[in-house]
Amino acid sequence: MRITDVVLRDGLQDEPVIVSTVDKVRIFDALVDAGVREIEAVSFVSRHRVPQMADAESLLSALGRRPGTRISGIALNLRGALRARDCQLDELRLVVSASEGHSAANAGRTTEKALDEIDEAVASLPGIDLVGAVSTAFVCPYDGVLSAARLLWVVGRLFSAGLRRISLADTLGTATPDHVRRSVDAVRSAYPDVELSLHLHNTAGQALDSVDAVAGLGIVGLDSSLGGLGGCPFAPGAAGNLDTATLVRHLDSRDIPTGISLSALHDATTLLTSILSHSPAA
Ligand code: ZN
Repeated sequence: MRITDVVLRDGLQDEPVIVSTVDKVRIFDALVDAGVREIEAVSFVSRHRVPQMADAESLLSALGRRPGTRISGIALNLRGALRARDCQLDELRLVVSASEGHSAANAGRTTEKALDEIDEAVASLPGIDLVGAVSTAFVCPYDGVLSAARLLWVVGRLFSAGLRRISLADTLGTATPDHVRRSVDAVRSAYPDVELSLHLHNTAGQALDSVDAVAGLGIVGLDSSLGGLGGCPFAPGAAGNLDTATLVRHLDSRDIPTGISLSALHDATTLLTSILSHSPAA
């Protein structure tokens, strides 16, 4: 199973402090030392809306290319996506909210408009691996539970844009495991050739149950966050991501290999806690 740690992006964007670029590099190196091979490090978002992510370009140039490690970032619109063109980035996740309420709050546009911008981004970024990242794929803090038809419409548009890797996010972290399983099953049946991954917040404490619920449905990647940090500033009620150590321990118990060392993750978590405690307020 491919684990992508998202603490540097999803985790730090929701913390009340600004972590310096130098300290972000230290957290990155600790994750690599623990065996994490996929790390979501930046968000190409307005520095005024999310000041914790203001150093995206300088962090990526400080990290440089890391053989054996994939560095990803996210963009919420075309303007953000185009910033990735001049960066050393292995993968860009193009985010679209499946629900209109979250799309308006998080990206300031309709889902349709966000999908149109993804079409343009795909055409403008031929040299970078792109992933369609569907926020509020199951439940929205504003619109409630999403229908499978709505999710399939969004995934269908991403597929038409040429994307063959799709990530489904439980942004709020309250989707039931059964709902996650039925949704993944519907997407898998309609688009059997798409490579699917999940991004699960753990607000309701059901994220591991959802991981188990999708067993056998061909999920190839899971996102998680060092220390269980994370949340969305524009999804009220969303709590942290699935903690990376908790996920690794769970997958270990099911003999699903991750290549990640729990003891080294513990060291990385200690470093993260120390850095957060001395970082200045946002
Ligand atoms: Zn998230």
